[in-house]
Amino acid sequence: MTHVFYRNSRSTPPTATRGEGAYIYDDTGKQYLDGSGGAAVSCLGHSDPDVIAAVQTQVATLDFAHTGFFTSGPAEALAERLVTHAPDGIDRVYFVSGGSEAVETALKMARQYFVETGEPQRTRFISRKQSYHGNTLGALAAGGNVWRKEKFAPLLADTAHISPCYAYRGQEAGESLEAYGQRVANELESELQRVSPETVIAFIAEPVVGATLGAVPAVPGYFKRIREICDRYGVLLILDEVMCGMGRTGTLFACEQDGVAPDIITIAKGLGAGYQPIGATLCTNQIHEVFVQGSGFFQHGHTYIGHPVACAAGNAVVTKLTDGGMVARAAQMGEKLDQALRDAFGDHPHIGDIRGRGMFRGLEIVEDRASKSPFDPARGINKRVKAAAFEAGLICYPMGGTVDGQRGDHVLLAPPFILTDDQIGELIEKLGTALQSAL
Ligand code: PLP
Repeated sequence: MTHVFYRNSRSTPPTATRGEGAYIYDDTGKQYLDGSGGAAVSCLGHSDPDVIAAVQTQVATLDFAHTGFFTSGPAEALAERLVTHAPDGIDRVYFVSGGSEAVETALKMARQYFVETGEPQRTRFISRKQSYHGNTLGALAAGGNVWRKEKFAPLLADTAHISPCYAYRGQEAGESLEAYGQRVANELESELQRVSPETVIAFIAEPVVGATLGAVPAVPGYFKRIREICDRYGVLLILDEVMCGMGRTGTLFACEQDGVAPDIITIAKGLGAGYQPIGATLCTNQIHEVFVQGSGFFQHGHTYIGHPVACAAGNAVVTKLTDGGMVARAAQMGEKLDQALRDAFGDHPHIGDIRGRGMFRGLEIVEDRASKSPFDPARGINKRVKAAAFEAGLICYPMGGTVDGQRGDHVLLAPPFILTDDQIGELIEKLGTALQSAL
């Protein structure tokens, strides 16, 4: 008899008892290769001694001090470390406990910014279809995943959604990647004009779309054009790197590869690497100064913001990612993973696309490669792949997205950066077994 309210109300998952390196073990001793870091969380694997030591030392020194009264050494150090490596102009860090909170914070920060600057008529956000920004009501409203939103639609703020930059589905015959990117980016300008640009607070997007599409990066030039449009209309650019940030794509911040600097960035998942729940909303000095010169107070806050133990974990993680070379390793092993996926599944009759960056890779599952038509959603392909992989001892992250009104299935892979060559082989073998039994 359990009293836990599980995600799936009709079944009880196995009990995880131990994590070591790239593996999780359950109470029967079964070993699972963590091919998705849970949900792109465990970037350093499961038993990193340096992060464990940092957490242990901090909790024994100062467990908690409320940010209504104090700052702390770990929070100051982590903010400095993040800003040192952040894109141009990013200068301030607001700590929270996870991804949805980071996005809520970004949305409220952007709104209050315009209240402070005397533009309170800016009341809406624009985002993209097939995006995911979190499950709290503000973040859910911003997202474009129809399935996650539909039950809560009456509670959600009206948000406009433009097309994602999803070349596999959207690029037209004879159109170059660059031309495709400009075309879909220009949808932002059309949408701004449709809703009146002076009513819009910000555009929010994931640099590499994670949960909803399965590791889809934008094409070259797309985000530069988005940045230009935001600047032209005085709209803030929020990049949601909750899943794709913190080295996952081979650079500490994913947007470095797109050559753009946003006004606000959200991070979480890999920041605590699973050792502590922590997220952060980073903003420019210009935004922060508006608060300083204006009301002097951000009307926001949660009890656990800037938690010293979570920040101590974040410090140890970011130090390993940067000084410890783990971001470089993600880039290097990511290329090997990509090649291994292409070698194994490049000709697979039901794999339509293999994509991603660094240790963030996605496979799109289709019924027919030529027409790119997805499987009938009633077949629940994503659930079958997840179950078959789990049975084979592989944790991966299959999702059924919505492709222009139709369901489409993909598998997201986001393994720890410590993965070895042999473990890449193991992942490919187990995924192959799962696909064979599920499709
Ligand atoms: N934003 C993005 C891009 C995400 O992928 C997620 C989670 O998958 C979130 C926000 C929400 O993060 P959390 O689940 O930590 O609340």
